Amino acid sequence: MNKALRKAVIAGNWKMNKTRPEAAALIAELKPLVADAGCEVVACVPFTNLETVLEAVKGSNIKVGAQNCHFEKSGAFTGEISADMLAEMGVEYVVLGHSERRQYFGETDETVNKRLTAALAAGLKVILCVGEMLADRENGITGELVALQTKIALKGVSKEDLKNVIIAYEPVWAIGTGKTATAEQANEVCAIIRGVIASIYDQEAADGITIQYGGSMNAKNAAELVAQPDVDGGLIGGASLKAVDFSVIVKAATEG
Ligand code: PEP
Repeated sequence: MNKALRKAVIAGNWKMNKTRPEAAALIAELKPLVADAGCEVVACVPFTNLETVLEAVKGSNIKVGAQNCHFEKSGAFTGEISADMLAEMGVEYVVLGHSERRQYFGETDETVNKRLTAALAAGLKVILCVGEMLADRENGITGELVALQTKIALKGVSKEDLKNVIIAYEPVWAIGTGKTATAEQANEVCAIIRGVIASIYDQEAADGITIQYGGSMNAKNAAELVAQPDVDGGLIGGASLKAVDFSVIVKAATEG
């Protein structure tokens, strides 16, 4: 399938950055810069910024996402936020299974699956992160590992619900390190993930799903990465905190 028929998505993952005034200022700067975007533009912001950013993006093409949600609807889960709480606010996207959640907060493929099904049930769109550690790549198991992460995360998800899932291939060794996967490496693994989707669902589902690359994507390297046939945009950490840099990446995806 022609990649031009798939929706490219450029999503910023602000991580634990920006106070509310800083968040409002960043969105104000970004809005005119991405107004002509030919791809979906998403800002995934800290929970405390959601209300501010939802207000700030009004009248623009920027969509708003959170960076995690819990799998239960409510209850004794101190410090957690449910998918329903996000949906009720008007949040559209949620990032799940980010490697920082897996590394520092005990997230597993099973809990990612539970969060993902809860998010979809609440009507959210999910950006599901998968990716290998450097040791996995050196051991030659990148494909198997990413396939396993994808299969477990999508357990119980129907083909219809898959339309609300984006997959972000994020090699852990490339996140926040300045080390980017080469365009060929990024494309190779995105293609493997697409093959996994075909094996679980069918070719139509595989052809239609948006698969992003993430890992030190920036204004300089974005064009080559997003031009790859199986790379449908990016999940952007550090560079999403600078409006101009982020807008250059959006432009690259618009053209790529
Ligand atoms: C991320 O946080 O998902 C990410 C890709 O970060 P960075 O762009 O900073 O590597």
